[in-house]
Amino acid sequence: MTNDIITQLADVVGAGSVLTGDAVARRKFAWDTHDRCRAKALVFPVSTAEVSRILSLCNASGQTVVPFGGTTNLVQGCATTADDIVISLEKMNTIEELDRSARTIVAQAGVTMQAAQQAAADVGLLFPVDTGARSNCMLGGMVSTNAGGTKVIRYGMTRDSVLGLEAVLADGTVVTSMNHFIKNNSGFDLKHLFIGSEGVLGIITRVVLQLATQPTSHNVALLACDSFDDVVKVLGHARDDLPNTLTGFEVMWNSFYERAVEPHGRLAAPLATGSCCYVLLESMGVNDEQDGAAFEKTMESLLQEELVADGLLAKSDKERDLIWAIRDEVEPFLGVARNFDVSLKSADVGVYLAAVEAAIKSEFKTAEVVGFGHLGDNNVHVSVLVDEQTEEVTQRIEEIVYARLKPYDGAISAEHGIGLEKRAYLPISRSQAEIDLMIRLKRMMDPNNILNPGKVVDAQ
Ligand SMILES: Cc1cc2nc3c(=O)[nH]c(=O)nc-3n(C[C@H](O)[C@H](O)[C@H](O)COP(=O)(O)OP(=O)(O)OC[C@H]3O[C@@H](n4cnc5c(N)ncnc54)[C@H](O)[C@@H]3O)c2cc1C
Repeated sequence: MTNDIITQLADVVGAGSVLTGDAVARRKFAWDTHDRCRAKALVFPVSTAEVSRILSLCNASGQTVVPFGGTTNLVQGCATTADDIVISLEKMNTIEELDRSARTIVAQAGVTMQAAQQAAADVGLLFPVDTGARSNCMLGGMVSTNAGGTKVIRYGMTRDSVLGLEAVLADGTVVTSMNHFIKNNSGFDLKHLFIGSEGVLGIITRVVLQLATQPTSHNVALLACDSFDDVVKVLGHARDDLPNTLTGFEVMWNSFYERAVEPHGRLAAPLATGSCCYVLLESMGVNDEQDGAAFEKTMESLLQEELVADGLLAKSDKERDLIWAIRDEVEPFLGVARNFDVSLKSADVGVYLAAVEAAIKSEFKTAEVVGFGHLGDNNVHVSVLVDEQTEEVTQRIEEIVYARLKPYDGAISAEHGIGLEKRAYLPISRSQAEIDLMIRLKRMMDPNNILNPGKVVDAQ
């Protein structure tokens, strides 16, 4: 059967667009793993029609498939076995239409985030979803994970930018739902089945995205706070004082900041280390003078009210980039730490993190717990560094981090998704009725369980 299916797939996409054997193993993932790719074959379709024919063939023979975008997800969403076929969307990288007056972009799923951002910027508009993975991650992957990022407080998640999409179901049926309108209540809004479902219900092939006004003003400050309570008050202030321009509110605990900046880290330190937390405050708007004045006034009142112990207002692009570089300095944690991405009420984050730290340190004496993230969106990333990295230790740390979310009704995944990595913990954030409905939907839409099997829920 192996050769049969590969020959059939080569008939669909052409032999040059099917990789097998060593060529599969040589294929690198974009991020966070040194694993070799395992699969029966990697297939590179160029159109929705080709994706449809591939899925129809695979479904007929019960062949499992795993969709690949930029493979930047952090939850083993693209994990494969040697028996899977990988469908990579990377050759479907055409921007089909950019309508300046309707402020929409129509693009294939393999267009990268950066290419979409650039296309929008070229006509003076903004594609507002932004993450550190921008040069690799692709629209299909972003939509299927409902990616968040650094501007969610202003523009929402990827879902909020998607007007329509096209997806191919497991049996090859093409569902074209390329809506272009903000308002369209003509029956079920089917796109939401595919947004955030991590490739288990269908393969997204094209999207219609809503673009925003390109801001002209850009203000960034780094603030040092003596307590987490002060950080929460600063967030309230920022929301009240910068109601139309607040675009970023990122927090870094000292444990993060001091690893990023000198003398321990590699970046220059704009503020001394040792405060409880550091806040990156960002505003963007269309009135440079007014926005700059409002931002400065906010800074002044934060200092006057002693909510901020020290602060630096960026005066140049270079200073803005330096402050953002500190927040983006995740290198010290990748590969060596167990990284978590959880959501809970912003005001509860400080107590939650302290409880996690205490519990982890009581079991693992030399462990370190580092917190940072998109606090303005209730989202905190927790990195746990331990000497011992066995499976048992990892599992115990996961149990501690996730179990402590329960009293706060927290979410085990704020933005990265579930993939394989968090599936066992889904009941912490979702009721059994919700999980059962997910499984029923999966079984109904993919009765042979060929689409990204085992991810998010176990539908077997
Ligand atoms: C440095 C870095 C920073 C990051 N920052 C953020 C952040 O701030 N916020 C955030 O939310 N995420 C972040 N991420 C995670 C990641 O970038 C996002 O999840 C991203 O949107 C995934 O896109 P991708 O194209 O790489 O998808 P992939 O990793 O290729 O795929 C993700 C999932 O979707 C499935 N899939 C892929 N393409 C399709 C398709 N066309 N149709 C259906 N299913 C598909 C895959 O099977 C997989 O399950 C970051 C990652 C890195 C490496």
